[in-house]
Amino acid sequence: MPDLFIDGTWRSALDERTREIRCPADGSLVGVVDEAGGKDTVEAIAAARRAFDEGPWPTTPAADRGDLLLRVADLLLRDKDALARAESLDTGKRLVESEYDIDDISNCFRYFGRAAAAETGRVVETGTASVDSRVVYEPVGVCALITPWNYPLLQTAWKVAPALAAGNTFVLKPSELTPHTAIHLMRLLEEAGLPPGVANLVLGAGPEAGAPLGDHPDVDLVSFTGGLQTGRRLMAAAAGTVKKVALELGGKNPNIVFADADFETAVDMALTAVFLHSGQVCSSGARLLVEDSLHDRFVDELVRRASRIRLGGPFDERAQSGPLVSAAHRAKVEAYVAKGLTEGAVLRCGGARPSGPEFEAGFYYPPTVLDECSSDMSVVQDESFGPVLTVERFSGEAEAVRLANDTIYGLAGAVFTTDEAKAQRVAARLRLGTVWINDYHPYVPQAEWGGFKQSGFGRELGPSGLAEYREAKHIWRNTNPSPQGWFA
Ligand code: NAD
Repeated sequence: MPDLFIDGTWRSALDERTREIRCPADGSLVGVVDEAGGKDTVEAIAAARRAFDEGPWPTTPAADRGDLLLRVADLLLRDKDALARAESLDTGKRLVESEYDIDDISNCFRYFGRAAAAETGRVVETGTASVDSRVVYEPVGVCALITPWNYPLLQTAWKVAPALAAGNTFVLKPSELTPHTAIHLMRLLEEAGLPPGVANLVLGAGPEAGAPLGDHPDVDLVSFTGGLQTGRRLMAAAAGTVKKVALELGGKNPNIVFADADFETAVDMALTAVFLHSGQVCSSGARLLVEDSLHDRFVDELVRRASRIRLGGPFDERAQSGPLVSAAHRAKVEAYVAKGLTEGAVLRCGGARPSGPEFEAGFYYPPTVLDECSSDMSVVQDESFGPVLTVERFSGEAEAVRLANDTIYGLAGAVFTTDEAKAQRVAARLRLGTVWINDYHPYVPQAEWGGFKQSGFGRELGPSGLAEYREAKHIWRNTNPSPQGWFA
């Protein structure tokens, strides 16, 4: 069955190109999917434009749109096993992590389904008797939704659910490495009764299938999650037609551990912060800042535990961490570590591919700790997006804040301390979109997600997530019109 979904029809690419998808854990063939080129994407944009301009989706009552999203939330749970398996095969991530993701994805649809139903305008008090004035919310239009490979369906849900809740139509372009769950989602939207042309799917490489989404005049909004360089390129492309742009980009996230932190909790969470999903997490706590007096004991214990992390494929139940997504990505992580060592970082564990027949065909890289780093090193400033932790020392609160804020990014980070007042003071001064106190990584769909500084702008999830996808229109009605006579 063809894999591009355009105007309610499944079809192949116009030039009939395809792409092999292989599992990063062992190189096995997962599937062969259609590979769109720019012409397919232009057709998808035209379909989304028609569906927006001619309806009925944008003017469907918000409560009915909400009902459809709630049906999708149920269908996602019905298909949880198949979806989780597909996600693990495409990404190489552990099955149990993919299963968590599907629950989160269903919750995301449920949250925006309810938010859509609650979506109301507001009456504006003008102080003038002969006027009624109100603000109503309308969809933005045709949305280009471009997503990465690390949490393929989760990142997609964070865009698709609020875009549909607000009444938009869209063209989705997932990462070319991980297309299968996006295909499955389109089938669920169809099954839930979404009208043709509202949801369109193009698969393929960014520069070909993705590029028209950045500058096409019929696209009103670009919502992108991915790397900083791609984000900059899309922002520039969108400027020509002044599209609304929302960017969720990278991070180099500080995890600050004060000497008075609960030791067991802080060590345990520092490992989760950086090694979850082999570090391929935008909010990964890849920069450990540890107070000088605690440094040696803390890093020794962290290294001891990091060295024991078991690598393995998605269906190996004893594995604690999986492979990287591709050979190219592993090469990037290796180059990053090599650069860190030339800059003077001290390798405490990892740093070389694991040996053994079970690792030969996959893209494995072990948990790696680089100690004695400083913020002038590129290894501390640049995102590796792999299982690599840099460790810096600090002394006191002011230095912790200064170092934590000393990157171009501002996505997320954490502070570990038993001093509640200090935790709050530090959290208030961190230039980050999310700050965890004595925790790392949790999020809820009813809160917001997004970055300060060059981690992007615009918010996903929560009320601001919905606001990204709608326009506020002010309607002023003169209830007693009569000539004013200014130019009589
Ligand atoms: P990427 O920028 O290479 O690709 C992301 C998406 O953009 C893919 O679908 C890709 O095909 C597409 N793309 C690439 N070039 C394009 C172009 N010229 N026009 C249109 N589309 C184009 O990123 P990636 O390697 O897939 O993902 C890793 C990055 O994503 C990391 O930097 C990570 O921090 C970031 N990320 C951020 C968040 C967040 O919430 N802030 C979440 C997940 C990932």
